[in-house]
Formats: sequence, C-alpha cells, structure tokens
Amino acid sequence: MSILVTGCAGYIGSHTCVELLNAGNEIIVVDNLMNSKKEALNRISEITGKSFPFYQVDLLNEQELEKVFIENEIDAVIHFAGLKAVGESVRLPLRYYHNNITGTINLLNTMKKYNVNRIVFSSSATVYGMPQKVPISEHFPLKALNPYGRTKLMIEEILRDLYQSDQNWSITLLRYFNPIGAHESRMIGEDPNGIPNNLMPFITQVAVGKLPELSVFGNHYPTADGTGVRDYIHVVDLAKGHLKALEKIDTSNGVESFNLGTGKGYSVLEMIEAFEKAAGIPIPYRIAESRAGDAAICFADPMKAKQELGWAAEKDLHQMCEDSWRWQSKNPNGYEESNPHLSKSGDFFYAKK
Ligand code: NAD
Ligand code: UDP
Repeated sequence: MSILVTGCAGYIGSHTCVELLNAGNEIIVVDNLMNSKKEALNRISEITGKSFPFYQVDLLNEQELEKVFIENEIDAVIHFAGLKAVGESVRLPLRYYHNNITGTINLLNTMKKYNVNRIVFSSSATVYGMPQKVPISEHFPLKALNPYGRTKLMIEEILRDLYQSDQNWSITLLRYFNPIGAHESRMIGEDPNGIPNNLMPFITQVAVGKLPELSVFGNHYPTADGTGVRDYIHVVDLAKGHLKALEKIDTSNGVESFNLGTGKGYSVLEMIEAFEKAAGIPIPYRIAESRAGDAAICFADPMKAKQELGWAAEKDLHQMCEDSWRWQSKNPNGYEESNPHLSKSGDFFYAKK
C-alpha cells in the first residue's frame, strides 16, 4: 500500500514509518518539524535502507498539503501530526484547538477532494478522563479533562460524523496508552523538547546525568505502593498496531476505536526499579506533590484489538526499559548530536517543498 504519514518525524510516527517500510509499503511523509528533527528521517532511511518523499508542510496550510495529494498516489493516511503536551494545552488552548482540529479538518477535506477515504487516527487513553474502573474498555464513557484531551475527543467525534455522512469512509481510532522504549537499532527514539513531562524520558535523562533527580508525583494513591499506575507499551509494538489497523480499513468500512495497551499496569516505583535493573544505574528520586488531574490507575483492556485486529503487545517491561536506555545513552542530546555519516547525506530521503 501507499501510505501518507502525517507527523512522520515524531516519536511514534518515526517508529511506524520503519515498520511500514519493513513490511513493504510505500510511504509519503509530511511534518512541519515543529516538535521533531529532520535527522529522524535520515535515520528511518538508514534503518530500512529505503527512501521516500518528505514534504515539510504544515497541515494548517491546505494549499501546500494539496500538492502532496496531487503529486502522489495515496491509498490511506495515518494521522499522527498534532501537539500533545497537556500542560501547554491548558496555557495555550487556542493554539491546540487550531493546530490539532483545524489541521485535521484540512487533512480530511483534502482527502475527500482526492477520494482517499481511509484513515488511522492517533487518539489517546486520555479520552477516558478519570476512569471509574480498570481495565478500560472501548465502550467506557468518554470525557476529556483538558484542551489536549478535548482535541482528541473532538476529532473522534468529527470522524464519527464524517462516517455518518458518507459510509464509504473507513476510519480507525487508535487509543494509545503510554508508549515508551525505542527501536532496537538505538537510532530513533523519543526526543522531547526541554524538560520532559512524561515519566520515562524524565527517568532516562536522570540516568544520563542531564537532570538531578526524579520527582515522584504523589504516593497516596489507592495503589499497592501509593504511586500512580499506568499501562506502558513498547513503541515498536504500538507501531505494529498501525499496520494491523491498516489491514482492517483496507477490508471494511466503518469507524471503530481500539485500545493499544498491554493490559498490565505498573506503578511509578515499579518503573524506577525496572529501569534501574535494565540500565544498571540508580535513579535518585524524591516524593513530591501529586500532579493535578492525574488518575490513580489507568490500564487497558486490549482484547478488542486482539480479537478484531489480531494485534497484541509482545515486548515486556524489561525490554521497554532497556530500549529506552539504549536510545538515550547512545543519543544523550537526542537528534541534536547527529551522526555526521548520516546527516551529510541528503539522499536517504527526498526533501520536497
Ligand atoms: P510527536 O510530537 O513526537 O510527533 C508529532 C509530530 O507532528 C511532530 O513531528 C510535529 O512536528 C508534527 N506536527 C504537529 N503539528 C503539525 C502540523 N500542524 N503540521 C504538520 N506536522 C505537525 O508526538 P508523538 O508522541 O509521536 O505522538 C503522535 C500522536 O500520537 C500525536 O497526535 C499524539 O497526540 C498522539 N499520542 C501520543 C501519546 C504519547 O504518549 N506519545 C499518547 C497518546 C496519543
Ligand atoms: N510521573 C511522575 N514524575 C514525573 C512524570 C510522571 O511521578 O516526572 C508519574 C505520573 O504522575 C503518572 C506516571 O508517572 O502516575 C506516568 O506519567 P506520564 O506523564 O508519563 O503519563 P500520563 O500521566 O499522561 O499517563
């Protein structure tokens, strides 16, 4: 298949591009690089030995986006592009609504114009708000708690309305739990801007000496050790879920949501311990105030994805921690310290603008 990937240079997009290429698909990739580096594209090319057209395009620019559809045959779209920081979305709601929602509407309008009606959308477990119980199934009530979450929920609604209006659409909403880890090659991984908001990149930056200690946000939750519990999933397992979702939208129309998680929850203290074991490095931490809006426990019921997509996460927590550490230790400054062997060559992928 020929797949348009938006947000290709980001954390999950880059890993998914590798899996798509390794499975023999063609990809056309779009990113405005507002939260990522072009070097990620060199590395996708290096890992897979394949090249692909890249368009440095903002989804807010519908004319530029249209060129991508004019110049390429596209069978389906995987839509990762979006802003994703919860705290920032509270401070800058209009930026989030504009980027995520207007960007998606531009993409859908352009798809409609060029008769591309298959899409896999990056949703999030955040659409379940504060879950009343676990494990979380797809039929649980939906409620977003912040502007970022509301953009995900609104886009899900927009896609459901789109299908209601035209049953030729085939739409998969993938609700990710907590992706961590990195590709086994250590060449691509998570490269957050500034101080990380998420647990695993914070831990790896403490391990590499960039940050002095981890603050554990609260130890009075109703969990075994009092710290928050999440469903961490290896980013390569998550990436593979997209290939299964593509198979699904290739064969049936409709709009369906799927949880992509492991079904297992780990506490913050368990994560610290698992990381220390995998990396062989102690992680200094202190107990801090709990973070506003944090759920105590959040983990998926992944059965629907298993039954209907034939997908299940395979990598365990040790592998996730090991791969997170291998990426961070090899690339302490993320993509900044790019390998000169890779970055000097512009012909691993074609840059078009
Ligand atoms: P990321 O920030 O690493 O990647 C997103 C990419 O989209 C970036 O490369 C960014 O430059 C690009 N982008 C943003 N707005 C754009 C625009 N208007 N036009 C073109 N490109 C644009 O994030 P990620 O972790 O890879 O997440 C990918 C998707 O998955 C996002 O939609 C995110 O909300 C969702 N998600 C992520 C997580 C997570 O924990 N990482 C969890 C649930 C859902
Ligand atoms: N967490 C923490 N310290 C940090 C970052 C996160 O204790 O510096 C905790 C957080 O309270 C939650 C878990 O780690 O219980 C996962 O947080 P993350 O932000 O990675 O994911 P999310 O809460 O969005 O699911």
